[in-house]
Amino acid sequence: MDDRDPECLFCRIVAGEIPSDRVHEDDDVVAFRDINPQAPTHVLVIPRRHIPDAHALGAADGPILARLFEVTSRLADEAGLANGYRVVTNVGPDAGQTVFHLHFHLLGGRTMGWPPG
Ligand code: AMP
Ligand code: ZN
Repeated sequence: MDDRDPECLFCRIVAGEIPSDRVHEDDDVVAFRDINPQAPTHVLVIPRRHIPDAHALGAADGPILARLFEVTSRLADEAGLANGYRVVTNVGPDAGQTVFHLHFHLLGGRTMGWPPG
């Protein structure tokens, strides 16, 4: 794949070099269970292509962004989250981003506090 960063953990997960508990994969999107779950359902939904974070998205990324949310919705349905769930993407150190490959956290199965910490 052209658009990978050899140093990136999630690019390595996409490539299968690091194991993950995958719950979805297609040509554009991979989803796998978070290794340190913060809710009964905690899945990371990511583009195969390396995009550092949501701040780096531009107009041309509309299609992949739509696909990420489409997959997130399907996974929420499959997890039985009809009562609601949260989708989170952290951007930068102040927000707590630790992996610099765009990912959406799908969190559900418990009530969520607001504001987030
Ligand atoms: P963030 O802090 O928003 O960048 O989210 C990164 C997430 O990746 C954290 O929730 C971690 O628990 C998760 N994570 C880190 N390494 C792995 C891994 N090897 N497999 C699955 N999830 C991981
Ligand atoms: Zn990456």
